[in-house]
Amino acid sequence: MESCLFCKIVNGEIPSTKVYEDADTLAFLDIKPVNPGHTLVIPKKHFTNIHETPDELLGKMAIVAKKISDAILKSGAKGINIGMNNGAIAGQSVFHAHIHVMPRYGKDSFSLWVGKEYDGNEREEVAKKIRSVLN
Ligand code: AMP
Ligand code: ZN
Repeated sequence: MESCLFCKIVNGEIPSTKVYEDADTLAFLDIKPVNPGHTLVIPKKHFTNIHETPDELLGKMAIVAKKISDAILKSGAKGINIGMNNGAIAGQSVFHAHIHVMPRYGKDSFSLWVGKEYDGNEREEVAKKIRSVLN
């Protein structure tokens, strides 16, 4: 996709700091890391988000994310957060699917989301709704 930033990285039109590459995927350092070593794992082919990415390719991306996580731990991190933003409302800003691999080093300013409570029957109703549309 011509106008896509990450497609340009794949094509070498925009520079990136690569850490891993194979036939289907590329992993490079996020330009604005939550912590040093924050890596993005992307498919070389353009897919907008998790919903568009074929299952087999998504599986390969997950395996690469694990490989990168192992390497980041070996290079000094104490834990790893893995995340994927899908859709603008979820914080996606680059619309080429990517998995964030984020190293944790102990005391850092990175905080996770806060859990809410369900009201009354809500939990069962939400689960029922999800189950009803699962294939
Ligand atoms: P998201 O908000 O989940 O779409 O994440 C997009 C990520 O891409 C952000 O964390 C950005 O810092 C990162 N990013 C944007 N431009 C570049 C770039 N040229 N090289 C590396 N990472 C980038
Ligand atoms: Zn793209």
